Amino acid sequence: MTRTPLFVANWKMNTDLPQALTLAEAAAAFTPPLTAELDIVLAPPFPWIVPVANALGSSHVRVGAQDVSPEDHGAFTGDVSAEMLSDWASLVIVGHSERRAGHGETDELIARKTHQIVAHGMTPLLCVGETLAEREAGQAEAAISRQIRTALGGCTATQLDGLVIAYEPVWAIGTGHAATPDDAQAIAAMIRRQLDASTAANARILYGGSVTPENVAELTSGEDVDGTLVGSASLTVEGFLGIASALTPPRELF
Ligand code: PEP
Repeated sequence: MTRTPLFVANWKMNTDLPQALTLAEAAAAFTPPLTAELDIVLAPPFPWIVPVANALGSSHVRVGAQDVSPEDHGAFTGDVSAEMLSDWASLVIVGHSERRAGHGETDELIARKTHQIVAHGMTPLLCVGETLAEREAGQAEAAISRQIRTALGGCTATQLDGLVIAYEPVWAIGTGHAATPDDAQAIAAMIRRQLDASTAANARILYGGSVTPENVAELTSGEDVDGTLVGSASLTVEGFLGIASALTPPRELF
């Protein structure tokens, strides 16, 4: 069973519209080498989702969202529903540590958001990862298991087909201190073991946290690491293309 590598660019609250369109055009023009495959998803800020989707047109690059409301619709000022996103986005990031820490998102809230995403036919990109304190206390695996169990509890195997999980150690995000490739592989394998067999086979498990064009090939070299979720380095055309190219090394033709 082979899983196509996936590169998700999380622009967070960055870019103006011209920058967003420049990045989208560069992504759309990127062609993997003949023998390689790469799925690319751009997750712009909400107001750029529609213009970016229009700029991508029928290219192979897909659009993602950075968040979603846990509610269906109604008096929820500032929220954006899964139904609204589903016309434009195919994937939604949920459980990012910046939302857990900065917006007090609990595992239970993340589960409600995940249910909205799958109920509207989109793919959840569930972010999990331990804090430095949890790591130092030897609690990394327990924290990640709890995050997965709660977020995905109650979803059916059909809803979770094609699920994406990003292992993002909190201490590695935006710090310049990436995990080691061995750690990324060990945690990715542990995450896959948490999933039901049918979900595990197709699930793509990404590594995220201080990924650059220079370290991405090594960080994604483990057999359970299916790609990467990238923040800062995805904000320049050079960084974006550097990562996309490093993820698609030309393979030998047999
Ligand atoms: C992220 O926020 O998901 C992330 C991985 O950020 P960075 O690449 O900047 O560490």
